[in-house]
Amino acid sequence: MHELGITENIVNIALAKAGEAQASKVAQINLVIGEMSGFVPDCIQFYFDSLSKDTIAEGAVLHFESVPTQLRCRDCDTIFRPQDAVWPCPKCGGQSVEIFKGRELYIESLEVE
Ligand SMILES: [Zn+2]
Repeated sequence: MHELGITENIVNIALAKAGEAQASKVAQINLVIGEMSGFVPDCIQFYFDSLSKDTIAEGAVLHFESVPTQLRCRDCDTIFRPQDAVWPCPKCGGQSVEIFKGRELYIESLEVE
């Protein structure tokens, strides 16, 4: 259900940006979605369709670009892609890692008419 809140944000930002550009229609919204964000594109599209109804964003195409997960080792600052489920640092073998990329969801750009 957390897609609802984020989709409200997407609609609000898209409408605000379209307003600034004095656009009459939002044609496409390009979104960046992290592999580990947990957001389901189909779910966002579903909420988007209902939230954007009767606005200039109605019928806009949502385009999702996936960002692969990247981890950062807290011990040596190496940034790496996780292998399977185990996440030791490939450089120092450290287990103390944090998510560097892959949790984000944001609007990269907007196409208006
Ligand atoms: Zn390390």
